[in-house]
Amino acid sequence: MGVSTEGASLPSGPDSKKRRVTYFYEPTIGDYYYGQGHPMKPHRIRMAHNLIVHYSLHRRMEINRPFPAGSDDIRRFHSYDYVDFISSVSPETLSENYYSRQLQRFNVGEDCPVFDGLFDFCQSSAGGSIGAAVKLNRGDADIAINWAGGLHHAKKSQASGFCYVNDIVLGILELLKVHRRVLYVDIDVHHGDGVEEAFYTTDRVMTVSFHKFGDFFPGTGHIKDIGVGPGKNYALNVPLNDGLDDESFRSLFRPIIQKVIEVYQPDVVVLQCGADSLSGDRLGCFNLSVKGHADCLRYIRSFNIPLMVLGGGGYTIRNVARCWCYETAVAVGVEPDNKLPYNEYYEYFGPDYTLHVEPRSMENLNLPKNMEKIRDILLEQLSRIPHTPSVPFQTTPPSMQAPEEAEEHIDRRPKPRIWSGQDYDSDRDEDMASSKFSNVNDDMRDVTDDMEEEDPDAQ
Ligand SMILES: [Zn+2]
Repeated sequence: MGVSTEGASLPSGPDSKKRRVTYFYEPTIGDYYYGQGHPMKPHRIRMAHNLIVHYSLHRRMEINRPFPAGSDDIRRFHSYDYVDFISSVSPETLSENYYSRQLQRFNVGEDCPVFDGLFDFCQSSAGGSIGAAVKLNRGDADIAINWAGGLHHAKKSQASGFCYVNDIVLGILELLKVHRRVLYVDIDVHHGDGVEEAFYTTDRVMTVSFHKFGDFFPGTGHIKDIGVGPGKNYALNVPLNDGLDDESFRSLFRPIIQKVIEVYQPDVVVLQCGADSLSGDRLGCFNLSVKGHADCLRYIRSFNIPLMVLGGGGYTIRNVARCWCYETAVAVGVEPDNKLPYNEYYEYFGPDYTLHVEPRSMENLNLPKNMEKIRDILLEQLSRIPHTPSVPFQTTPPSMQAPEEAEEHIDRRPKPRIWSGQDYDSDRDEDMASSKFSNVNDDMRDVTDDMEEEDPDAQ
């Protein structure tokens, strides 16, 4: 096949061909607040955007403000009752009998709290991913970015792991209107369970998740979980251990993805760039540098297949901003200066004020012989699927026909937690996030000034 094993470096080489990049950003996204001590901070998306603007990367792409996804859009994956609940619950009504009875049923309250504007937040996140899919469907862009998306744990009728609405599933369903085969790749430190589950029985979506496995949220993603029925062999799980470094990640990622693309020949790729796989993440346990993380995007981009790039986890927010800014630069094909430009959140990035940070010195528990074994098992799995599976174009993905799960059974099971629920010692991110709330209006003015006209065709 005509694909090089090396993702060409930027900006020279065969990969220097310009890509048309479109980018979705909702200027109010950074105002949403999960609550004091909660590790998920939408503010990180605003920080990333601010870096992107100060590196002038926004001039190299089309900027869109997402249309909020409507309840009916969201119901293309989520159940009626669940959407009804999350669209009407609020911190004020929480104690009312009706709502308090539903909390456990929909797994809302602990990891996934009810906060002000919860549904608007979900609508923006999902609206960005659906809008990105529309752009790719129309052939209006080669790469579509939505850092507010990538919320891969949300289930049909349940919130999970800080995720309420699965923008990824909704985006992929939109892509399937036009594209025969969608490849989903997930490099968040947590297993991409919600997306895998939604497409577990179809060969029209291949899901590939690289994640920490073993006594870690959400507990799924065993290497032997490969899909069922027509979807058998179209789910890939890459179980990894603590301390994963750039070199060992690359030695697994590149050969697996190369083989996946060779045998599956996707028409479009969706890459979830969860940044909790970075070194020093508050909830993660890997040891990737920003460059090692971005190498996944660089490699997938080199195949020149239409690509949707989404966010995801990421809880050391100064590093999340660094990572998603750098990945935006990789998408548009430039190499930004390591010295950070002055920006609204400059104080977060001390003492070095650099874009890149060194990985930590920590033991890599992913031994070469185990990595080879994992690679061999997965390459063997891939050898079992026919080249270019001939899927009927009009098949509706079975996820849409799945019967309502017996939710009452799910209810009684204890839910795994992504986070202990305890307040962290107030770290620097936390302190500054709260101090920033007094400056929200100043910041918003800057951000909206930098935005171009919204695109009425986005959806
Ligand atoms: Zn995660």
